[in-house]
Amino acid sequence: MAFQKRAPAGAKGAPARRRFTRRKGCRFCGDKSMKIDYKEVRNLRYFISERGKIVPRRISGCCADHQRKVCEAIKRARNIALLPFTSSHSLD
Ligand SMILES: [Zn+2]
Repeated sequence: MAFQKRAPAGAKGAPARRRFTRRKGCRFCGDKSMKIDYKEVRNLRYFISERGKIVPRRISGCCADHQRKVCEAIKRARNIALLPFTSSHSLD
């Protein structure tokens, strides 16, 4: 039938739902005074979860470059016991 339009592939079912993504932007790019240093635990704390895991980039909003540096700093800080590896290691 002429009036029957073919649905394009993938159009069936739920529409491609946009995941809630608010581009926060990299906080280190935004604030140049913030530096990534393994000794600056206060800054790094934001990038670890309460279980001590490093927060992934899609959540932290860091750019790739800074995320890598944060990652490195956290690992360094862990190594000298400034940050915990897991939640069972209490700092206080
Ligand atoms: Zn950045």
